[in-house]
Amino acid sequence: MKEAGAWDRRNFLAILGATAVAAFPGKVLARARQAAGAASASGGVYDELGVKTLINAWGTITDIGGSLISPEAVAAMESASKNFVSIEELLEVTGNRITQMLKDLPPDHTATITSGAAGAIMSGVSGVLTGVDRKRISQLPDLMGMKSEVIFQRDHYESYDYNPQIRASGTKIILVETPDDVHRAINEKTALFYFANYANPLGRIKVDEWVKLGKQYNIPCFNDCAADTPPISNLTSFNKMGYDLVAFSGGKALRGPQCAGLLLGRKDLVQAARFNASPFEPTLGRGMKVGKEEIVGMWKALDVYLSQDQDKLMQEWSAKLDYVAKQLKKFDGVSTAYYVPPIANHVPAMQIAWDPRRFALTSKTALHFLRSGNPAILMWGGGPGASETMEDDDYVTMSSFMLQPGEERIVASRLKEMFQAHRV
Ligand SMILES: *Cc1c(COP(=O)(O)O)cnc(C)c1O
Repeated sequence: MKEAGAWDRRNFLAILGATAVAAFPGKVLARARQAAGAASASGGVYDELGVKTLINAWGTITDIGGSLISPEAVAAMESASKNFVSIEELLEVTGNRITQMLKDLPPDHTATITSGAAGAIMSGVSGVLTGVDRKRISQLPDLMGMKSEVIFQRDHYESYDYNPQIRASGTKIILVETPDDVHRAINEKTALFYFANYANPLGRIKVDEWVKLGKQYNIPCFNDCAADTPPISNLTSFNKMGYDLVAFSGGKALRGPQCAGLLLGRKDLVQAARFNASPFEPTLGRGMKVGKEEIVGMWKALDVYLSQDQDKLMQEWSAKLDYVAKQLKKFDGVSTAYYVPPIANHVPAMQIAWDPRRFALTSKTALHFLRSGNPAILMWGGGPGASETMEDDDYVTMSSFMLQPGEERIVASRLKEMFQAHRV
């Protein structure tokens, strides 16, 4: 496993300005759920394999399995595994159902299930270049006779980990910083305006101005919103803003299958994207397969997600943090602070800081202590305003939205052990 996954730390924390710190009034939050004892299910198949299971107080991190599929979606996947169907038909029908579920998607927009947000990027970009022309589709990444340039802001590009998915279809990324740069960059080869939603605070041209520029030059616009639910409204708000294609991860907060994602956008471009991916052949995207079980699981997971009371979930997540904070109150020199990142993983998080004169701990040794225990607990370093984890910082940060019922108790007790063991 990677040391504290790079993008999540870098990108997620880079956008946390001091102004983003929204304190949760701990007292008004519901009391911590009184789950009985340790709740982690036994590892089941992971025990059989001898693979260690983890308590996820970190987030929706691909390196550790993303998120846990909702039980309703698992049941749908099990049912899907029992028959053969036409995958082309299944993709079309689930895409149409999702379009109906997302009621305020613009009328000329539709949906398709992809192999993750990364697959949505790759097939979406390919589709913009090829349209539904089978000859062009099979020709990629040779772009002879097609447009080939994708315009992207430098301030997004530098922290962005999915540039290979853009370039896979043979495109060249043209970096810009200002509207003047955009003006100079436009030519007959320009295919797409690309935007990374989490990076909105970093770039000079903001999300709404970017799409306006695209419209002005009549170039399609793509927005990568992979980790940008909650809020639910984001599932349609960028399409409504004018974006022609928007990508979401299915295996993050939506709690669908890890390998699934969504591409939402203009009907012609979504169809073109679909033709650029599995099961269609010969295509570059043939290597990005989503099976019938995952297609069905993604559709069902979205159905479940849309029916959930998000405010109630936010309160539950906050209550878990509140429980941990209360357990740490008795330690002089330990403090906790709540915050919610405004974008990307917009869920309650809590920074746990200590006075380094009272505890012989650094961010690095604390993360190591938590991870090397049994069960292993994963958090991340850094916190509000931090752009990078410094190994010798004196805090760790946890989120609670991926904790299973009762795991907040295990987390609190390990933190107590940690502070007890490292008192100076
Ligand atoms: C996670 C993520 C992706 C990749 O999503 P997958 O569903 O894992 O393919 C792409 N872009 C951003 C910004 C992400 O956070």
